[in-house]
Amino acid sequence: MTEKTDLRSLEEGELAGLLAGLGQPAFRAGQVFSWLHQKRVASIGEMTNLSKELRAQLEERCRVETLAIERKQVSRLDGTVKYLFRLWDGNHVEAVLMQYRHGSSLCISTQVGCRMGCTFCASTLGGLVRNLSPGEMLSEVYEAQRDSGRRIDSIVLMGIGEPLDNYENVMKFLRLVSHPGGLNLGARHISLSTCGIVPMIDRLAEEKSQITLSISLHASNDEKRSRLMPVNRQYPLGELMAACQRYFAKTGRRISFEYALIAGVNDGREDADELQGLLGGWVAHINLIPVNPVRERAYARGSRESVFRFQQMLRQRGLNATIRRELGGDISAACGQLRREREQEEAEHV
Ligand code: SAH
Repeated sequence: MTEKTDLRSLEEGELAGLLAGLGQPAFRAGQVFSWLHQKRVASIGEMTNLSKELRAQLEERCRVETLAIERKQVSRLDGTVKYLFRLWDGNHVEAVLMQYRHGSSLCISTQVGCRMGCTFCASTLGGLVRNLSPGEMLSEVYEAQRDSGRRIDSIVLMGIGEPLDNYENVMKFLRLVSHPGGLNLGARHISLSTCGIVPMIDRLAEEKSQITLSISLHASNDEKRSRLMPVNRQYPLGELMAACQRYFAKTGRRISFEYALIAGVNDGREDADELQGLLGGWVAHINLIPVNPVRERAYARGSRESVFRFQQMLRQRGLNATIRRELGGDISAACGQLRREREQEEAEHV
């Protein structure tokens, strides 16, 4: 059996090609695109301005990607919603909908699992299972929007997976989600976070996109960063920072740096000094995230005071550092933890 084409993953030009192959006029592509990305139907049968015959032809070859909400947790504190989605093949991914004063933001997954191996992260514990298709990433957005009834004002690619390890699909997703005939989300409302795959950062720079690039830094020297993030052995800090410079030169977009604070590991005075050496003179923004302890790992979060202290140390060194506001504290589960719990339950039941 050959796998059916997922219509939700196709750009308008590709839809036009597919429909032309079925002898259809060019305007059909716009109609189908609108069913998929405006009305967001879950099946070809619902595309009622297409003839029955065309619908049958399409159904033979194609499908519409959908996913199901397997679990949903809503924070009583601030309305943050955490979704566990089940994909067509039984795999799971997570997305988190956060409410800010200026609108709502959705954090989505880009892969099932991850192969980057960061030692503090739950998403990578079982390795990479597979990439998500553009249609699956879009479905996370459409389903969260449908379920919550909220308009999604911004998207961050910071859920499970390494977006630059699924480059083509992520780029296609970005084009689809910013298409005027779809969600029409401006690139400036989209952030992509990476652990630092240098050649892919250069490739992204070539796209000259206006999205915000976030770099997961988490350590200020190679020895420490390589211990926390194996990717650093391949692309050490010097190369990473040089790629960031090139990215800024090409796109004119400021880069933001994420720094997960781990008590006693990367939150000392010498870490602040080294960060000054690394980022001083940059117009960089550092986002401090108190680490989310992962059950399988022995990393601890410091006290509130220690987090403020580290922020102060950075500010005294002329660095622009903010502390990530914690949302959904009562449903807090580290990145990838919900999926992991679900898969462990499944393993126990077979
Ligand atoms: N692979 C990408 C995006 C997904 S991870 C990346 O590495 O950037 C999103 C962010 O959450 C990254 O900054 C990642 O380092 C961070 N993160 C992962 N596990 C965490 C944990 N237990 N506590 C705090 N931040 C974590």
